[in-house]
Amino acid sequence: MNKFGYSVAQPRVIDYESNDRSLSEYLNALEPSFRRCIECGGCSATCTAAAYTSFSLRELHVLIRRGESRKIQSALKKCMLCGKCTLVCPRGVNTRNVITLARNFKVSLNNAV
Ligand code: SF4
Ligand code: SF4
Repeated sequence: MNKFGYSVAQPRVIDYESNDRSLSEYLNALEPSFRRCIECGGCSATCTAAAYTSFSLRELHVLIRRGESRKIQSALKKCMLCGKCTLVCPRGVNTRNVITLARNFKVSLNNAV
């Protein structure tokens, strides 16, 4: 096959039916403010860890809600729990507590990201 310098993108399907959303439900129950996140990215913009690593709290919230939790635990370790994200969140999400709870939650490794 001739190479044209590009290739067809692989399909990216989010299967809400089979994804494990137990972490999302756990956070909704123990930290109800998690539901208020509008994924604006304000937390990521001010995040101390994001300034030095690829960590993104906004992305983390999206993945948790989708039930794509496989890489979340390793990403969570990058957070320094400084609390700046909680101060700037326009929706009053207790992001620091969300991270603490998520760290303590045993994520199913069967999920695909
Ligand atoms: S700043 Fe608040 S509302 Fe915006 S993405 Fe972060 S947690 Fe969600
Ligand atoms: S508590 Fe964690 S996620 Fe929030 S600003 Fe600090 S390092 Fe970033």
